[in-house]
Amino acid sequence: MTLTPTVNHSPPPQIDRVRHVLARRTLSVVAIAHVTPAMLRITLAGDEIAGFSSLSPDDHVKIIFSAEADREERRDYTPRRFDAETGRLDIDFAVHDAGPATRWAVNARVGDALRIGGPRGSAVISPEVKRWLLIGDETALPAIGRRIEEAAGDYVITSLVAVANPREKQSFETQASLRDLWAFRPLSAANDPAPLLDLLETITIEPDTFVWIAAEASVTRALRGEVERRGLPQGWLRAAGYWVMGKADAQEKFD
Ligand SMILES: Cc1cc2nc3c(=O)[nH]c(=O)nc-3n(C[C@H](O)[C@H](O)[C@H](O)COP(=O)(O)OP(=O)(O)OC[C@H]3O[C@@H](n4cnc5c(N)ncnc54)[C@H](O)[C@@H]3O)c2cc1C
Repeated sequence: MTLTPTVNHSPPPQIDRVRHVLARRTLSVVAIAHVTPAMLRITLAGDEIAGFSSLSPDDHVKIIFSAEADREERRDYTPRRFDAETGRLDIDFAVHDAGPATRWAVNARVGDALRIGGPRGSAVISPEVKRWLLIGDETALPAIGRRIEEAAGDYVITSLVAVANPREKQSFETQASLRDLWAFRPLSAANDPAPLLDLLETITIEPDTFVWIAAEASVTRALRGEVERRGLPQGWLRAAGYWVMGKADAQEKFD
């Protein structure tokens, strides 16, 4: 397919960081479900949920575990869905081989306690952007799914997501016009950008599209480079390395 460089005519939207009162909460597991075979949804609730606020789909909370010698281990997770009326908070865990967060999630039982901190802040975009290209892997799916489900009917969203196999595909209820494209590769190849780059090659990035990328860090780097090569103007992109292959508790920020 011949690709023309993207031209965005409008000035970029403004991204404001809204700060929240930083609170630590101890919550209880009230439900556990498999979204897909390798994606666990854990629902948390409890008195300490009062005051919880998450304004953006790409917010994150710190999940806090006690490790040996009174050391704390903390990992970042997306508030996948928060229902302020029932006080229930869903967090989706992509299951992989090792790590305290994954270990906790696969062993979790209803009634277990979990400590969370944050969100510390939310990146709020204004004016509203109606056209989105969302790219990512399993760890980005909670933020991607939330953005798709919260979108209004006049939004146009394309999502490009890499997962291990077709059973890991998720479906989303949304009023938006959604084109969801999926790539498959084993989790052991989650640092290979090729499957997502191949999908990206099939896409024309329309003017005034906001591009959001989160995946293993080397994948994010490659995708971001490709989107920039296409001529996306500054201010229309947010990209993050949500984890780093072979390194525990690691992430990379690109903006
Ligand atoms: C802002 C933000 C939001 C995030 N939201 C989510 C979310 O909602 N759901 C979610 O599942 N993840 C999410 N992540 C990613 C998650 O924080 C990391 O995957 C984290 O490293 C998992 O912790 P762990 O204790 O399981 O593994 P760690 O102890 O951190 O790592 C142990 C080993 O596992 C590898 N590893 C880590 N993550 C993965 C993975 N996903 N697949 C394969 N190997 C891996 C590491 O490279 C390391 O070798 C988010 C990350 C960020 C920065």
